Amino acid sequence: MVRWSMAWLVAFMCLLPAVTLAAEESDLPTVITQLSKIIPDFKLDYTVERTRSRAYVSEKQGGSVLTIDPDFLNFISPTALLFVVAHEYAHVYFHHQEKLGVEAMQLAALPTPEMAFEALASQPVQQEKLDALNRQFELDADEQAVKWLAKLDIVACSSDVLASIDDGGVSMVMDRSHPGFYTRKQLICRKP
Ligand SMILES: [Zn+2]
Repeated sequence: MVRWSMAWLVAFMCLLPAVTLAAEESDLPTVITQLSKIIPDFKLDYTVERTRSRAYVSEKQGGSVLTIDPDFLNFISPTALLFVVAHEYAHVYFHHQEKLGVEAMQLAALPTPEMAFEALASQPVQQEKLDALNRQFELDADEQAVKWLAKLDIVACSSDVLASIDDGGVSMVMDRSHPGFYTRKQLICRKP
């Protein structure tokens, strides 16, 4: 009897590393503390609320705000959450939002980003140029997130992180402005 319970215990212990815990809202302050240790002047507020884009960052005066969907948050692991937050912060770090606005204004020859984004929606050739730039920004954000995780001795190329970017190709079909899973995986798992 005792021997059997020992066997079960050993079997259970062996299975433990394979069990991935879901991230929770309380993991967000931990992740932010981790990133603030390696990124100078790191500052990011967050809000957990329903959004179709899973996670995004908006640059506001006085600091940037990360919005993350509660279902997405509970679907990914704490390590994947660290990657997601690092990726989103990389967009702030590189001023991607501002650069896209400038590019859109040039492509549409209009004076504000809002006017330009709206006009480009009915100009497929010019819109594709903006989408191509955005796809590059997405990969740049992934690359930077990989570097920041490496500074924390965390390898981004893991099943947890890859699960968080895998949406079965949905986003690539729905939204040409984002790179697909395999392109991102190739970059995230590239040997340094
Ligand atoms: Zn992104």
